[in-house]
Formats: sequence, C-alpha cells, structure tokens
Amino acid sequence: MSTYTPMTASDNSSHSRSTAPKRSSSQGMSTVSVHGGEARQKPYDAITDSIVCSSTYTFEDTQSIIDFIEQDGQREEYGRYGNPNERIVENKLAALDGAEEAVVFSSGMAAIVGLLMAKLNAGDEIVFFDQCYHRSREFCFKHLSRFGVITHQVPTGDFDAMAAAITPKTKLLVSESPTNPQLTCIDLEQFAALGKEHEVETLIDATLATPFNIKPLDFGIDYVLHSATKYLGGHNDLLAGSIAGSKEKVADIRGLRGIMGGINSPHNLFLLQRGLKTFELRMQRHNENGLALAKFLSQHPRVEHVYYPGIDNHPTHQIARQTMRGFGGLVTFLVKDADWRQTADIVDRARVARIGPSLGGVESLIEQPLVMSYYTQTPQNRRKFGIPDNMIRLACGIEDTQDLIADLEQALDT
Ligand SMILES: *Cc1c(COP(=O)(O)O)cnc(C)c1O
Repeated sequence: MSTYTPMTASDNSSHSRSTAPKRSSSQGMSTVSVHGGEARQKPYDAITDSIVCSSTYTFEDTQSIIDFIEQDGQREEYGRYGNPNERIVENKLAALDGAEEAVVFSSGMAAIVGLLMAKLNAGDEIVFFDQCYHRSREFCFKHLSRFGVITHQVPTGDFDAMAAAITPKTKLLVSESPTNPQLTCIDLEQFAALGKEHEVETLIDATLATPFNIKPLDFGIDYVLHSATKYLGGHNDLLAGSIAGSKEKVADIRGLRGIMGGINSPHNLFLLQRGLKTFELRMQRHNENGLALAKFLSQHPRVEHVYYPGIDNHPTHQIARQTMRGFGGLVTFLVKDADWRQTADIVDRARVARIGPSLGGVESLIEQPLVMSYYTQTPQNRRKFGIPDNMIRLACGIEDTQDLIADLEQALDT
C-alpha cells in the first residue's frame, strides 16, 4: 500500500502527523480495519482523525508552490484533487484489499464510470459477464457506446464465450463476483489467466463479497472495485466507491477523478472511516445471517429455489468454497407457485427487514427485483436478465439471526 506523508504544519508541531505505518499482511483484518492507513499520533493528539473542512490549501510563499509542483510534493492543493480524510480512507481500503493503492469516489457508479472513462478510447471493446448491476450495464450500452466503445455481453461464467468475444481491440474484461442478484461466483484465477493470455486487463466488482470474503488482486486481477455504500460504509448512511490496484494502473483513474470531481466530502469520508472500524466484526454477522437464512429458506415449503453460494445446490458452490472466506449477507429466493402480487405480499409482511434497495448496511433490507429495479423493463428483458416475477432479494443486516428467521417465517406464513 502507499503511504501518506502529510504536510507538516511548520508552526505547530502538535498538528503534524507522522507517516502512516505500513500495515503488513501479517496483521489480522480487524486490526487493519481499525488502524490501517492511520497515523499513530494525530492532530491535537486525538485518537480519531479530524474532519478537515477545506476546499483549498494555502502555501507559505511562492517558492513552496514551485517546490510542490517540481517535487510532486505530498500535500494538499485543492479539494477536488484530494483531502486528508480521503487519503486516510484510501490507505485503509488499499490495506484491506492488499493493494498498492486505492482511489475513492463519491459513489460506486462514479468509480465504475471513472475507471471506464480513464481506460478506454474510441474503438476499444470490453467484454462483460451478463449478470451485473443494471446501472453498470446501462452506462456501457447507453453512454460508452456514444464514445465509440463497444460492449460485448456473454453468459456469466462462460469462459469459452468470453474468450471467443475477445478481439485485438479488447481492452477490459469485467465481472462481478458474486453477481447480483443471482450470486454467481467467478473463478478468479481463470478470469485473471484469460486476461493475461490475451493481454487484456481485468476488473472485478467485488461489492457483494468485500475484502473480507475475497481478495481478487491476490488472484492476479488488475482492478477490484467496491461500492463502499454497501458493506464497507455499512450503516446505510453514505455513498462512496473505491478502486484498488497497482500504483501505476490507478494513477490515471485518480487523474481523471481530479477533473471529473467525483470526490467525497471530508464529512462523508469521516463516516466511511468510522464505518470501516467495525468492518470485520460486521462481516462475520452478515455472513452468519446470510448462511442461516439461506438454510432456513431452502427448507421452507413455500420456497421454490434459493440462490446462495454457501449452500450446495448453488451452481458455483465449489468455486465459492475454494475462493471465499464467507458467502455474504445477500440471499435471493423464488416463492413457489406465486405470481408477482403474491410475492409482493410476502415482502410487504416483513417486520424486521425494511423494504428498500441496497445491501450491506446494519439494517436488513428486502425487495422484489421485478418491482425495485426492473419494473419498467419488458417481460422478455426480465427473463433475459434472470429476474423472475416471484424473486425476492433479502440483504441480511446484523440483527440477531433468530429474529430474521422469525420475520421471514411469519412473512411466508399465509
Ligand atoms: C450498489 C452497487 C453498485 C453501485 O454503487 P453505488 O455506490 O450505488 O453507486 C455497483 N456494483 C454493485 C455490485 C452494487 O451492488
């Protein structure tokens, strides 16, 4: 991971900070979540980092501006390029992902858009596995296409189809793992190998897995992306996104962010840093709840099918077992012999889980993908994207497992 050498406040030594210590991988994930990326001694000797509210940063004199430019000095200049709170969070996220560097955006979508815009030129092609966040797909087909970038979609997990779609113009292979909402897990070693074989870069959106469950960079993937709005922030109170990779590969993404301005405010970053302190603890409960609810739903007479990589009927259970530490809090299921209205009735009867989009926060959320994300799509399109009318997506929070089970039990009981 990169380290941050902060500017030294020349007139007040108690405001200066020592360089953030490098976190070796020998430290456990909770220790990294709490201390990673942070200086040991902080301004005002506070144990927490201050929120540094400043849109611009001052220079002592003209010579110090010239020194900053010529020596590419590690200090702040203007808030669109970076701020102290952002650097701390970036270093913490880089440490969690096992990356040299991370760059944080104002949302997961800003991160995806930033990466694609930084890396692609007119005439380039990208290949996607087709189960993916619908807005990522929309950006590629509706907007990247306007700049002459061609997107190919192939069935998720079909590496032969992906290899066949690669041309000399292909610049990037993209997948989520697990995918949303079917929770298909990708063989990351094979994905990285395919990219290397064809000299094409690879991107994994690991939002649903988080660095607790998988570390795509360890498998040779070039970029790992997270919507930090979900598990990393973890409290349904902020939006953010991150991209981690090598210093060299991340540099132009950071450069573009400084122009497009998709950076977080220091207040938002304080919340994200605060949320990350308990990341490892929260993930343990999310994983426990996800597995328990998947098992409960699998045995329920009103449930036709459960999609959860941690149970053995899932098509990618073996891949998940080999590559993941846990399987996450998201559980998708189909209600037996139910039309869309009867399915909606079950969602409406939930009393602990709240009805809403998103996932990864401490509060459980329940939704029917047909209504929440695909309401305006044609039935053919819903079938194509694998969204049946009787599908429910439950994003387990960190409530007590037995309360979530009881909630689903009463919701399913007609
Ligand atoms: C939510 C989500 C995104 C988008 O992130 P935002 O922070 O909402 O912009 C991208 N990918 C996946 C898998 C997501 O769940």
